[in-house]
Amino acid sequence: MRYANLWIGSVLVLGFLLLAACSGETAANENGRLQIVATTGQIADAARRVAGDAADVTGLLGPGIDPHLYVPTEGNVTTFSEADVIFYNGLHLEAQMARIMEQMAKSKVVVALGDELPAAQLLTWDANTPYDPHFWNDPTLFKTAVENIRGTLIAADPANAAVYQENAAKYMAEIDAADTYAQEQIARIPADKRVMITAHDAFGYFAQRYGLEERGLQGISTESEAGTRDVQALADFIVARQIPAIFIESSVPPGTIEAVQAAVRAKGFEVVIGGELFSDALGEEGHEAATYTGMLRHNARTLAEALAGE
Ligand SMILES: [Zn+2]
Repeated sequence: MRYANLWIGSVLVLGFLLLAACSGETAANENGRLQIVATTGQIADAARRVAGDAADVTGLLGPGIDPHLYVPTEGNVTTFSEADVIFYNGLHLEAQMARIMEQMAKSKVVVALGDELPAAQLLTWDANTPYDPHFWNDPTLFKTAVENIRGTLIAADPANAAVYQENAAKYMAEIDAADTYAQEQIARIPADKRVMITAHDAFGYFAQRYGLEERGLQGISTESEAGTRDVQALADFIVARQIPAIFIESSVPPGTIEAVQAAVRAKGFEVVIGGELFSDALGEEGHEAATYTGMLRHNARTLAEALAGE
């Protein structure tokens, strides 16, 4: 009996290894280049920049797509299974992808960039979501993720190590420049008006980095609906602080923020919608926010122009 079990176990292990080997070969044999899949636009941008011409990157979540709610399609599963390396945000951002990532991790390199950041540097949240997943909005944390991408690609494809090193260095210098630009933009806003009010709490790290107060209507995930009480409380806050502008997000329907604006008006104060911020998705091709550094610049300048009252 014991021998029989052992035999069956060996066959299963052998079968699994053969399967894993085959799926690995498929990806590598297509064109001999490393095949990388990334979930969010921000992570895909980083992976593309570090990979350069040495590897192929497929980004999954396009402009306007909300990663909290996105359910992977059958086509996405095929894309994942053809990859050599998968990068995703983790920290429960891609809430509907946890199971497929677990599955993929059995046969390929799967890296949850947020989960590998030092916990001490993360903003805490609640029992269901212990850490705020929107770490990319602090460029210093995002650079740590870029270093992880660089290390992962070098380990998976050592022949191109020098290319990945050089690409990552150039990209991180651009991130530093965008960070400096964002600091200069936020400095234009009078100290008592440095408040960013958005549809959901995506900008905690941004606010911490640049010295703003942050209020989101829906909390940390768009999975929870904003209630009437939240709208009224936020409207009271805006009136009390005489906040000139609030902001919509490209990946969240504008209805909730428009409801806040209406509630403020009903209290006899005018708050304008100061523009569109890019929180969980990048912009369309051709838009400034189509890249990670462009997103940082766009968000900081949009806030400054609406809140500075120049
Ligand atoms: Zn979010």
